[in-house]
Amino acid sequence: MSLIIRIDVDRPYGRQPFYRHLLSKLSSDLYFPKFERFGYLDELRTMLQWLNHAGAPAHVFFRRCTFPSAEIVELLNEGGHEIGLHLENSRSFAMFTAEKRFLERHCSREILSMSKHGSGGAKYGFHHYAPYEPERYMQWAGQASMRLFLGNLEDPTIEAIRLGKLLAFPSAFWLEPAWRDTAKFPVQWLIEHAGEREIVLLVHPENVLADSQLTAQFKALIGAVRSITIQ
Ligand SMILES: [Zn+2]
Repeated sequence: MSLIIRIDVDRPYGRQPFYRHLLSKLSSDLYFPKFERFGYLDELRTMLQWLNHAGAPAHVFFRRCTFPSAEIVELLNEGGHEIGLHLENSRSFAMFTAEKRFLERHCSREILSMSKHGSGGAKYGFHHYAPYEPERYMQWAGQASMRLFLGNLEDPTIEAIRLGKLLAFPSAFWLEPAWRDTAKFPVQWLIEHAGEREIVLLVHPENVLADSQLTAQFKALIGAVRSITIQ
């Protein structure tokens, strides 16, 4: 059994320094040109290089403001990673379909997996619809013949469910400690339990790269546990 690595690409320019944080915020509200010279998707690029070096494939979920550049697509292809939709505007099935089609046109491929931006509560950006309604997303994903839904619950003992052709993992092991019971679920817990069944490891590149402890933990995990993708 193995890890399913889930990378949610939330911030086009990461968090640091401040002008990049500001560019990330602005891009999330307005449809902005992408500025390579300010380090567009730098954090994701670094993370993909680590994964490719370790031979560890991942599912990488994009929002409209973080759609992959040609260079990132090349790294994704090299490592055998899957591109997924990080759903932002979840007001209706029509909005979901529009976001999915837009990403499919951008990448010239069918998108078979999805995750949701935000877990309810805070609104992240102008286009974001804040409520977290996993039952609706699973229904939409099934209707759109997708294969994989990765949910935002924070208890990594919750097992996957199958709904027709759709495989759904309601919950994940969040590497960032703000969304994990670190006493109950230390990183060692994941190394031991991913040997018994499939568990989703969720990371955000800008958070992992901003923290040396998280970086070390991520590298240790991809070195210790085999990862797979679902197609
Ligand atoms: Zn997100």
